[in-house]
Amino acid sequence: MLRKAFFLSIILTMLCFSLQGCSLHKEAGPLKTDLIDSRVKIVTSIFPLADILQNIGGELVEVTTLLPAGASPHTYEPTVEQARTVARADLIVYVGGGLDDWILKLASVAGKEVVIVEVMDFLEGFVLPSGPAGMPADEEEVHDHEDGEDDDHFHGFYDPHVWTDPFLVKEKIAPSLAEILAGLKPEIKSEVMHNLEIFQGELQALHEEITATVRSFTRKHFIAYHSAWNYYASRYGLKVVANVEEFPGKEPSAKWLSELVELAREHNVSIIFAEPQLSNKVANVIAAEIDGKVLILDPLGGKGLTGRDSYIRLMRYNTEIFQKGLQ
Ligand SMILES: [Zn+2]
Repeated sequence: MLRKAFFLSIILTMLCFSLQGCSLHKEAGPLKTDLIDSRVKIVTSIFPLADILQNIGGELVEVTTLLPAGASPHTYEPTVEQARTVARADLIVYVGGGLDDWILKLASVAGKEVVIVEVMDFLEGFVLPSGPAGMPADEEEVHDHEDGEDDDHFHGFYDPHVWTDPFLVKEKIAPSLAEILAGLKPEIKSEVMHNLEIFQGELQALHEEITATVRSFTRKHFIAYHSAWNYYASRYGLKVVANVEEFPGKEPSAKWLSELVELAREHNVSIIFAEPQLSNKVANVIAAEIDGKVLILDPLGGKGLTGRDSYIRLMRYNTEIFQKGLQ
């Protein structure tokens, strides 16, 4: 479901006062390039989405990621400077579900009509993986719309880490984004659909590779730092026993930590998967308690991170880490 952000002149004017040299009225330098640059300008919240869009759009798009490498989308505060980037965008793509809703703050001052796409909207009716302890996804069910209300998105708690399932990216997320790009600019449709086909082939190969790798694991249960891996686990037959953070972005309570240690012992878990975007302190404490170890998964990746600088390389990296811990 597309939504439009409308020009909010008052907010924009206020923002301009706080931005030195706010150049929404374009000045000399960049004007010439802008005129010849017909690429669709896309702004995304997280790197995996940016790379998926780059694969589909190829040379026809310019994609910018707002979340810096190493930051967590759950706790991120966008900067005023990022409003400038958003102001130039034709299309804003974010995950939704409470993960990166901060992008909407920037979109509301975008300065022109911009198409805003929430990836979670593509997944309406999709059966969400059942949540392990420490994940609230199964506490409130997906809205069933039986009451006939006209409503275009999910409600309540659910898990937004949908991109960690490459098969879902291939079947649903990538094609939906391709449709949106083609709808935005019909003259690029055939090239976008061609790119999509190639990308879907790569995603299928990745999916088969992960399926084969995971099949060789001797252990299936693990503890994750936060709820990033439920879709991956659900797709490939792994089991998230618990997440260290009961709620993404929130410090776990002492009570929950002692329950975690119990759960780990009960399920014979010896690996805690932490993440580069989050502190490993608590993971190390639990690992010491259960005589296990901590390995680092990365749900986000980023440009310039060797081995994690494309969506496909990122998922391959994570599969290797899972393999280290569970084989
Ligand atoms: Zn997350």
